[in-house]
Amino acid sequence: MTTSSSQSRLTVLSGPSGVGKGTLVALLRERHPELWLSVSATTRPPRPGEEEGVHYFFHSQESFQELVASGGLLEWATFAGNSYGTPRGPVEQQLSAGVPVLLEIELEGARQVRSTSPEAFQVFLRPPSLDELERRIRGRGTDSEEAIQRRLQRAALELEAEKEFDAVVENSDLTQALARLESLMGLS
Ligand code: ADP
Ligand code: 5GP
Repeated sequence: MTTSSSQSRLTVLSGPSGVGKGTLVALLRERHPELWLSVSATTRPPRPGEEEGVHYFFHSQESFQELVASGGLLEWATFAGNSYGTPRGPVEQQLSAGVPVLLEIELEGARQVRSTSPEAFQVFLRPPSLDELERRIRGRGTDSEEAIQRRLQRAALELEAEKEFDAVVENSDLTQALARLESLMGLS
């Protein structure tokens, strides 16, 4: 059954790397400070300007595996050669305090959350085209050529999965995409 946004305090935002998830999430948080964004654990090295505990919790392979083994992650997946996961405790605390929670995660993680938290409202962010997606990834200037190729290959697969989601938002015009997301999440 499709979940409506107003019934759920847990929102999952997914979509291919470079589509603009981070950009939209930053705008959403500025405009709706009540929204709590989960900070993920990752084995990916920090990009310039990324801070521990703000953008990610940066882990070695070993300590990430310990988190997995101890059940400390709500979901986790490997993406473009690195592991990413959502720390379970903080999400459960925020939800039980009635705070709206946002997860910005890739497709495999979204699928895991769908099976463990079927009440979550799941939104897929889609690019206007694969060419535009490539322009955005390159324009961001943060990834090596190898990482760009891996992300583009994965994107083609992820785009086929949009039917699995409760709602699809096209990020063509940023302002329009933001307004649509706000409306879907019951924030506007
Ligand atoms: P993601 O978090 O999905 O990997 P980002 O938020 O890092 O993607 O966005 C990738 C690049 O695309 C950034 O340089 C960002 O400024 C740009 N971008 C985001 N949304 C749009 C848009 N609607 N139109 C054009 N460029 C955009
Ligand atoms: P990036 O390396 O560009 O920060 O993130 C790569 C991908 O990993 C993005 O699609 C992002 O949404 C996803 N991601 C970030 N955190 C998590 C997480 O905790 N779990 C999962 N499954 N994916 C994540």
